[in-house]
Amino acid sequence: MGNITLKKVNKSFGATQVIPGIDLNIEDGEFVVFVGPSGCGKSTLLRLIAGLEDTTSGTIEIDGRDVTGAAPAKRGLAMVFQSYALYPHMSVRNNIAFPLKMAKLDHSAIDKKVTEAARILNLTNYLDRRPGQLSGGQRQRVAIGRAIVREPSAFLFDEPLSNLDAALRGTMRLEISELHHQLQTTMIYVTHDQVEAMTMADKIVVLNAGNIEQVGSPLDLYHRPDNLFVAGFIGSPR
Ligand code: ADP
Ligand code: MG
Repeated sequence: MGNITLKKVNKSFGATQVIPGIDLNIEDGEFVVFVGPSGCGKSTLLRLIAGLEDTTSGTIEIDGRDVTGAAPAKRGLAMVFQSYALYPHMSVRNNIAFPLKMAKLDHSAIDKKVTEAARILNLTNYLDRRPGQLSGGQRQRVAIGRAIVREPSAFLFDEPLSNLDAALRGTMRLEISELHHQLQTTMIYVTHDQVEAMTMADKIVVLNAGNIEQVGSPLDLYHRPDNLFVAGFIGSPR
């Protein structure tokens, strides 16, 4: 499962309305990219879905269940942070195992899940290293591993590649797409980078000042943009 529905979701910080009211449906297994210029509300929208921010009004449903106001841990989602969110003093194994230890799973169950995540992410030979002994790409994979072991109904990524160099970004982009192909789990991926959006998404959500300008496949947006904003944004990769 991994169906996420937003109904009239509104978010204000004090007197500032950041998300005026969004309706959106994300299907199970979709790779959805939220794209738009800096400050348009991508991170806020993702954090609302994750439960890291409370909605001002509106509802969020996950697999038909109303989770509006529910704590992040109750939503069955996993947020993938940038690789610098790893614990530098812990081994790769313990970094990946961390959420399972917090959930008090027994040793053998933890070991099994960590081994499987390491296999999927090609980290089997690096489990005893510290993050500082890994490449940037390997560190990003450890951050993803920490999400995989929780077997979430959806993965949420907020610009996970923005602190990597261009070559590594390209490689990681392919790796995340390949991971989606393997797991077939819903992924929501936030970026301000049109190329990432066009190459990774099943469905792109174009945001502008907290509003959805258009939702569609990369080809839809490219060939049939609804307005000049979408045409300009998608049509002019930086
Ligand atoms: P993006 O991720 O697209 O760059 P954000 O979601 O981070 O945009 O921010 C959208 C808008 O909301 C910005 O104008 C930002 O300043 C504002 N904002 C985000 N978080 C807060 C907060 N905690 N308090 C006040 N304003 C915020
Ligand atoms: Mg952001």
